[in-house]
Amino acid sequence: MTTFNAVDLRQMLSRLRDVMAGIGSVQERLDKLVALIAQGLKADVCSCYIMRAGEVLELFATFGLSQRAVHITRLRVGEGLVGEIAAHARSVSLADAWSHPSFVYRPETGEDFFRSLMGVPMIQAGRVMGVLAVQNRDERPFNDWEIETLETVAMVIAELTTTAQVVKRDELFPAEGNALLPVRLSGAMLNPGLGLGQAVLHKSHVRIGRLVSDDPVVEHGRLQSALNALRKDVDTLIDSSRGDMGGFGDILEVYRMFADDRGWISRITDAIDTGLTAEASVQKVSDDTRVRMMQMSDPLFRERLQDLDDLANRLLSILAGGGMRTELPENSILVCRSLGPTELLDYDRRKLRGVIMEEGSPTMHAVVVAKALDIPVLAQVHGALNRIDAFDLLALDASAGHVFLRPSEDLQEMFATNAAARLRQKAAYAASKDLPSVTRDGVAIELQLNAGFLIDVQALNETGAAGIGLFRTEMQFLAMPTLPDVKLQRALYRQAVDAAGGKPVTFRTLDVGGDKIAASWAGDKEDNPAMGWRSVRLTLDRPSVMRQQLRAILQACEGQIFRVMFPMVATIAEFDACRRILDLEVARHMKCGGMAPREIAVGTMLEVPSLIWQLEHLLERVDFLSIGSNDLIQFAFAADRGNTRIADRYDALSAPVLRMLQFIAQQCRAANKPLSLCGEMAGKPLEALALMALGFRALSMAPAAVGQIRDVVRRTVLADLESFILRQMNSRAASLRSEIKSYAQDHGIIGEDLSE
Ligand code: PEP
Ligand code: MG
Repeated sequence: MTTFNAVDLRQMLSRLRDVMAGIGSVQERLDKLVALIAQGLKADVCSCYIMRAGEVLELFATFGLSQRAVHITRLRVGEGLVGEIAAHARSVSLADAWSHPSFVYRPETGEDFFRSLMGVPMIQAGRVMGVLAVQNRDERPFNDWEIETLETVAMVIAELTTTAQVVKRDELFPAEGNALLPVRLSGAMLNPGLGLGQAVLHKSHVRIGRLVSDDPVVEHGRLQSALNALRKDVDTLIDSSRGDMGGFGDILEVYRMFADDRGWISRITDAIDTGLTAEASVQKVSDDTRVRMMQMSDPLFRERLQDLDDLANRLLSILAGGGMRTELPENSILVCRSLGPTELLDYDRRKLRGVIMEEGSPTMHAVVVAKALDIPVLAQVHGALNRIDAFDLLALDASAGHVFLRPSEDLQEMFATNAAARLRQKAAYAASKDLPSVTRDGVAIELQLNAGFLIDVQALNETGAAGIGLFRTEMQFLAMPTLPDVKLQRALYRQAVDAAGGKPVTFRTLDVGGDKIAASWAGDKEDNPAMGWRSVRLTLDRPSVMRQQLRAILQACEGQIFRVMFPMVATIAEFDACRRILDLEVARHMKCGGMAPREIAVGTMLEVPSLIWQLEHLLERVDFLSIGSNDLIQFAFAADRGNTRIADRYDALSAPVLRMLQFIAQQCRAANKPLSLCGEMAGKPLEALALMALGFRALSMAPAAVGQIRDVVRRTVLADLESFILRQMNSRAASLRSEIKSYAQDHGIIGEDLSE
C-alpha cells in the first residue's frame, strides 16, 4: 500500500505549481498534471473529467487510459461512478470499482485492467467543475490521507481550469431564447416589498493568485494576522450595528464566535501544513464546508454553514489585500447564490432595493438582517445567476414572488407607482399602530408577534402588537457551533423579556431535529426529519437539555410573566412528561433562592393531528393552546411544507382545514382555555378573516404582517363575516379562497389589488 505524507504532498503540489506556471497550451499542461498526479500517488491511471454544457463530463486528460478516449468519453452527471461523484459533490474510493452498481464500462478507455478507483469532485466557488480520478490494477483500498491529497490536488486543478477558461462560461450558461426579451423568474418571498434597480452580481469568490507555498511558517503567520484583522472587522460591524441599525447585534455576536471557532481554524492550519498558501487553505476548508452543506438535508443547519462561508470569504479578501465593499449604482438589486449577514452589510443599504438569491430560506441570518433594514428578498430563484447579467434592469416584486428582467417601460412605470403606493400604505400602518385591534362590531382580536431574534421582540413597539405569541428559541441553538449553556440562554431570554417591556413573551422550548444539533447525538441520518426525532421527542429523551432551557427561562422571568409552550406534542403523556420536568425546575429554582415569576402559564402547541382527538383531556392540563398551522397542515395533508412542488396543492382555506380549526376552537371555548394560532396563515389577510370567523381571538404573526392584519380587523363586521364563512363551510370546493376574497373586496376589507 502506498504511504504518503505531508512532505510528499508538498513536493507534489510544488511540482504541480511549476507545471501550471510553465509554458504550453492548457491541454499540454493538463496532460502533464495528470501524469504527475499518477506518479505522485503511485497510481496506474489519473484522469481529469471536465464539466461541459448540458451537465456532461468530458474526459479532458488522462494518464494510463487510452489517449483515443480523450474528448470522446463523456458521461452525464449521475451516470457511472464519475457522474455520481459530480452529482453528489462527494469523493468515492472503491477497492473493487467493477462490482459497484453505478460502474459503467467504456470500452474506448481501455479500463479493463483497472480494479480500484478513487475519485473526487473538482469544486470551484461551490460549483462542481469536474472530477479527478485515479485507478489501479490491483484491487486495493485507498486510505483517508490519499483521498485528502487528491481532494487538495483537485482544488488546485479546478482553479487552473477556471482561470484558463478551459470551458467558456457562455458554454455552460447559454442564454435562453432571445436574451433581450423581458423574462419573469419566480421564487419564494422571504421579505416582502417592491424594488426597481440594476442587477449587481454578488461576488463572494475572491480569486486566489497563489495556491502553493514552500514555506508553511510564513503562511501560518499570514493566517494569524488575517484572523486578527477579521476579528477587528467583525467587531467594527457589531459596533456599527449597535449604533444605527440596532437589533441584529445578537446575530453578529454569534457570528463573531465563529471567527474563534477552533475546529475551523485548525482545519485551515492543517491545510497549510500540506503545502497550500493561507488563502488556498481557507478556500479548501470553505469548499469542504460547501460540500457538506450541499449534503445536509436540514436547511437550518445549512444556513449556519453559510455564515462560516461568509466568514471565509471575508478572510480570503483580507488575505488577498482587498476591501469587501463594492460600489453600487444608485438603485441596485443584489443577485447571489446565497449570502452571509455581513456580506449584506458590506453593501450600501441606502442604494439597495432588493436581494435575489438562488438559494436561501426564511431563517437565514442575511434575511433577518434584510428584514431589519426593510430590503425585499426573493429566494430560491432557480438559475438567477445564469439568466441575469450585471446591470440588467430588474423589477422585483418580492411580495408576489417574482422578478421581471429587462421590464418594459410600462412595467417600470407601474412599479414606480406601486412602490410609492406601498410606501404610503406602510406609513399609514405605522401611524395606526396604536389603534385598537377591534372589529367594527366591537370584538377584540389580539395581535401577537412571532420572534426568533431580539430584533423581532423590538418590533413590539413599532407594530403595537400585544406580546410575543411565539418565541422560537431554537434560533439561538442553531446559531451556535456548540450547545449554549444556561448562562447564555438566560442572557438572551432576559434580553427578550426586557425588550418586551412587560408584554408577555411565550417561549417555545427547543424545536430541532436530531440532525440540527450536536452531530454526536444524532446517530443515523433520518429519512423524515420533520417526523423524526425532533422537538420534545428529542428533549424528553435528553431531559438535561430541556431542564437547562426551562431553568434559563425561569431565571430570565423572575418577577415577570412566565409563559412556556412545548412543540410537536403528540400525546397527553408527552405533555405530562414535559410538565413534570418543568415542575422539577420550578422547585429547584425556588430551592436555590430564585424569585418566583409573577404569573405562570404552561401551554402546548397543537401541530400534530393526533392531539385533536385528545383535546378533552389535554385541555384539563394546559393553561393555553397555540396552533402551529404550518406543521398541522403539512401533517394533515401529508404534504411536506418545504417542498415547492406541492406548495400550492392544498389550501389552508379549504373546508377540511377550516373544519379542523373550527373543531379545535369550539373545544377550547367550551373548556374556557385561551387559543391562538402562530403559523404563517395568521399573518395573511384572507386566512386571518377565516380564523376570526371560526372563533380565533388571538393571532401571532411575523412583525411585517401586523399593520395589514390590524387594518383588516378594523374594517370587518365580524357577525356578518361569521355567517358568510360558516355558510361556505359545507362547500366541496378545493378552496374557499376566491369566495372569501370576493367577500373581503365587496365589503371594503381589502383593496382590489391585494397581492398575496
Ligand atoms: C408551525 O408549525 O406552524 C409553527 C409555528 O412552528 P414552526 O414554523 O417553527 O415549525
Ligand atoms: Mg411547527
